[in-house]
Amino acid sequence: MSKKTIFQKIIDREIPAPLVYEDDLVAAFNDINPVAPTHILIVPKKVIPRVGEAVAEDQATLGALLLAAGKIADKLGVTARDKGFRLVINHGRDAGESVPHLHVHLLAGRRLEWPPG
Ligand code: AMP
Repeated sequence: MSKKTIFQKIIDREIPAPLVYEDDLVAAFNDINPVAPTHILIVPKKVIPRVGEAVAEDQATLGALLLAAGKIADKLGVTARDKGFRLVINHGRDAGESVPHLHVHLLAGRRLEWPPG
């Protein structure tokens, strides 16, 4: 059996991290090293290493990640157009991926620059 990712351990409640959102397909918790006032990670319960390795049968899971992001952003009160938030998915070395378990970063609470670094 392959080693569990840190995110799988959080989802399985082996590592304590309060969940800010959970449904059948995904869970979300605060990033341990936030880069914005709000920095939440939304993670599928099924381990998909990275977005480019998702397959057709993952369609519902991929949709669930974005729907969860919208619900969390709404709850945070950042969906108004004069506020806002950013979703980021890092795939591979050049993007800075460090945990091989697909996750969506939800960033909010400050003006975010574009293009990103
Ligand atoms: P990425 O670089 O896109 O793979 O993002 C991985 C993210 O996971 C980073 O922002 C880390 O700060 C975050 N992270 C790593 N370990 C933990 C943890 N135990 N709890 C919460 N976030 C974590």
